[in-house]
Amino acid sequence: MSLIWIDGHYHDRATAMVSVFDHGLLYGDGVFEGIRAYNGRIFRLDRHLERLYGSAKGIWLDVPLPAAELGRVVEEAVGKSGIKDAYIRLVVTRGVGDLGLDPRKCPKPTVICIVDTIKLWPQESYERGLTALTAATPINHRESLSPRIKSLNYLSHILAKVEGIAAGVDEVIMLDSSGYVAEASGMNLGMVKRGVVRTPPPYAGILRGVTRDAILELAREAGYGVDESPLNRYDLYTADEVFLTGTAAEVVGVAKLDGRVIGTGKAGPVTRDLFARFRALATRGD
Ligand code: PMP
Repeated sequence: MSLIWIDGHYHDRATAMVSVFDHGLLYGDGVFEGIRAYNGRIFRLDRHLERLYGSAKGIWLDVPLPAAELGRVVEEAVGKSGIKDAYIRLVVTRGVGDLGLDPRKCPKPTVICIVDTIKLWPQESYERGLTALTAATPINHRESLSPRIKSLNYLSHILAKVEGIAAGVDEVIMLDSSGYVAEASGMNLGMVKRGVVRTPPPYAGILRGVTRDAILELAREAGYGVDESPLNRYDLYTADEVFLTGTAAEVVGVAKLDGRVIGTGKAGPVTRDLFARFRALATRGD
């Protein structure tokens, strides 16, 4: 059973409502976060709040309560929900205005915290690895709507996802407009070559994933080399392993990309090792 907090009041799924004049709905004018709790403990809430407030700043949106207070809302909502392994969605929209674009007509941002559950991939996907294709739809240009802003405008990622669905694969890899590898539809991407974990740098124009950062820390601790530098499709095709990371998916391997078998054609040993280390970290609660 989900529990929803909106501007100070709790609702259930049936009664949680926002106005049709909310600019989050009318224009995708807002920001959000996807967060996870493991056994009642929220994984890296501070990092998510930092990213949320950064995203808000990126779109000139003042979140009407301080980060520490919003953090307490999240903790309280998770506690009240009784859901131990929860997926939490924080949303801050520009708020209710009129039918024009002007955000000055929206006096008060809407703040929403949804506590629910999520399951992205079945267990066998983690063993077998996902099939993926490179989407024709590029990620937003970083000087237009920066991919580092986790905004309510997910259409380019959704269009890429639909390309994957139409082609019958599990997931898509998005490139930037110059052809460098960016990320998956709602996950970051990493690869392994000769024991080195490689991933694009955030400045290249990707969302800087909380899971991505945790995986890079764990990879360093485990003694793997770590290299944050631009990647192209050739790097992925010739990788020993390709994997995707995200709050919902955690760490999942890619077995096939654009019809080519990656590495051994299933989730590789480094991917599985990093996943085990990530699970240990997340369930320990740091
Ligand atoms: N990229 C995009 C576009 C995403 O939506 C997400 C999910 N938030 C990620 C990457 C992964 O980020 P995180 O590890 O913080 O969930």
